[in-house]
Amino acid sequence: VSTQRRKRSLAVPDENHRHLASKLTRWFRRNARDLPWRRADVRGGYAALVSEAMLQQTQVSRVVESFRAFMARFPDVDALAVADEQDVLAAWTGLGYYRRARHLHRAAKAIVADHESTVPSDPGSLGALPGVGRYTAGAIASIVFGRRAAIVDGNVARVLLRLHGRPLSIDDRDTNRWVWAESQRFVDAASDPGAFNEGLMELGATVCTPRTARCDACPWNESCVARRDGIVDSIPKSRRAGKRMVIHHHSLLLRRGDLIRLEQRDDEGLWASMWQVPTIESSRRLGVADLQAAIAATGIALVPDAPVDRFVHLTTHREVRFHVHQATTRRRRGIWLTVDAALERPLSAPMRRIIQMA
Ligand code: SF4
Repeated sequence: VSTQRRKRSLAVPDENHRHLASKLTRWFRRNARDLPWRRADVRGGYAALVSEAMLQQTQVSRVVESFRAFMARFPDVDALAVADEQDVLAAWTGLGYYRRARHLHRAAKAIVADHESTVPSDPGSLGALPGVGRYTAGAIASIVFGRRAAIVDGNVARVLLRLHGRPLSIDDRDTNRWVWAESQRFVDAASDPGAFNEGLMELGATVCTPRTARCDACPWNESCVARRDGIVDSIPKSRRAGKRMVIHHHSLLLRRGDLIRLEQRDDEGLWASMWQVPTIESSRRLGVADLQAAIAATGIALVPDAPVDRFVHLTTHREVRFHVHQATTRRRRGIWLTVDAALERPLSAPMRRIIQMA
């Protein structure tokens, strides 16, 4: 009973949201990292749209350089909207998950067509743009336009679950609903919703990190239930890793002099619209005879040795097993490029490896 009472009295009561929000905002103003999209001369709806798209699933350190180059190439929403998609994808090189680049491009077109080239300020209109989910809409609406819009991503959920000492999984639907409601309570209590939200992201990214939280440096450490109870490392509860689907990609290196043959992938699915050497996909590994039969009609012949390379590439949902073969053809049609020119095209990371090997 005494433990229950102690826990209840230390849990975060509603009246504390204002106090904690202001503590975090002050901490953020003192500790904010100097990131290019935060600079006064760049800051705005378009820069936020670009940086948020890049930051989804990519580390800040990798985004910094790409962001500068992208903004130099496409300085505003109009420049991006009229750009060729292949140029946009090329400017995305190194960031991976090219679907985000395609969405960003479509979002720019929609902003030009429907919002007079001005990034909208309300979460509803932002959320209607391609690739802009609830988190991104809330981040842009609050940080750029000062709206009281909540944000929740993995970082935010972890911080709030730890603050309240809740050892739950972020993937659980009820937990997710609770985290959004709690995030909204904070943003409603904050005097500056944008600075508070940025502070919350910053805390999750730099202090309340998944493995080694630096609680001594945390502005919320006096109120944090997980810290008090010594359960920081068990929050959030880890999810069971889903099983990846195994697929086989048989990639064919065709050479003519110093040229190699390239083709573009379908505009749907894995690595959509990106470039590759001719590749046969299957659910099982094809032996040389099966593979030769599969490509017979294309006029391509395998060089009948073992594959020149084999490796596995993991994506979120797939295990892609690559088998790289040398092949020949007498046919000249198709797209033939030097290795350097091929490397300029939007390529997946494994395809970049294969072409570099060529
Ligand atoms: S005290 Fe530690 S666990 Fe709690 S919010 Fe701060 S960094 Fe995270």
